[in-house]
Amino acid sequence: MARHIDPVCRLCRREGIKLYLKGSRCESPKCAIERRNQPPGMHVRRGKMTEYGERLREKQKLKRFYGVLEAQFRRYFQLASRSTGNTGEELLSILERRLDNVVHRLGFAPSRAAARQLVAHGHVKLNGKNCNIPSLIVKPGDTIAVKSRPKSMTTVKLNQQAHMEPIPDFLEITASEPPEGRVVRAPGMGDVDPRLNKDKELQTQLIIEFCSR
Ligand code: SF4
Repeated sequence: MARHIDPVCRLCRREGIKLYLKGSRCESPKCAIERRNQPPGMHVRRGKMTEYGERLREKQKLKRFYGVLEAQFRRYFQLASRSTGNTGEELLSILERRLDNVVHRLGFAPSRAAARQLVAHGHVKLNGKNCNIPSLIVKPGDTIAVKSRPKSMTTVKLNQQAHMEPIPDFLEITASEPPEGRVVRAPGMGDVDPRLNKDKELQTQLIIEFCSR
C-alpha cells in the first residue's frame, strides 16, 4: 500500500491552509501553520499564480485533506464524472464514504492517517467481518465496529473522549461497548467535513476543470 511518508505539515504550508493531518496537534499552538505560514523550501515564488497553478493547488488541497494519492484520486474522479449527479458533489461524497474517513468522523481516531492505521492493523470490523482496507467505500446501512478486544477498545475510547468534532448527520453511533457506528445515508454537500472549507472555500469547479483536461 503506497503512502505519503514526508513530513505532513509541509503539505499544509504548501497549500497555505490547515489540512488537519495530525489530530490534536493541529488545534494547538504547535501547528506549523500557526508558527510559520509560508510555503516550504528555500525558493519561495512570489507574484500572481497562473490559472493552471490555481487549479492544481485546489486539486492538491482536496487530495491531501483526505490523504489520497494521485492514482486513486483520479479513479474517484472518473467514478464521479460517470455518475448522473453533479461531479463535484459526487467526488466529495465518495471521499467522505472512504472507510478511513468514516472511522475518523465517528471519533474512533484523531485523524484520517490514524484511522487508516487503525483499519490496516485490523482493529475494525465492517458489517461484522474483519476489514483491513482503509480505502473501501461504505454504503448506507453499513456498520463499522471496533473489535471487542481490550487493545482495540482502549485506544478507540481514549480517541472518542478527545474527539471534539460533532458526528456528522450521515453517521450515527449505535453502541459504545464495543464502539460501533452506522452509515445512515449517503453524504451530501452539507455533510462534508466543515474544516475543509474553514480557512478558504474549496472550489470544486476548478478541480473538475483540472481533472478534465
Ligand atoms: Fe501540521 Fe496539523 Fe498544523 Fe497541518 S494543521 S501544519 S498537519 S499541525
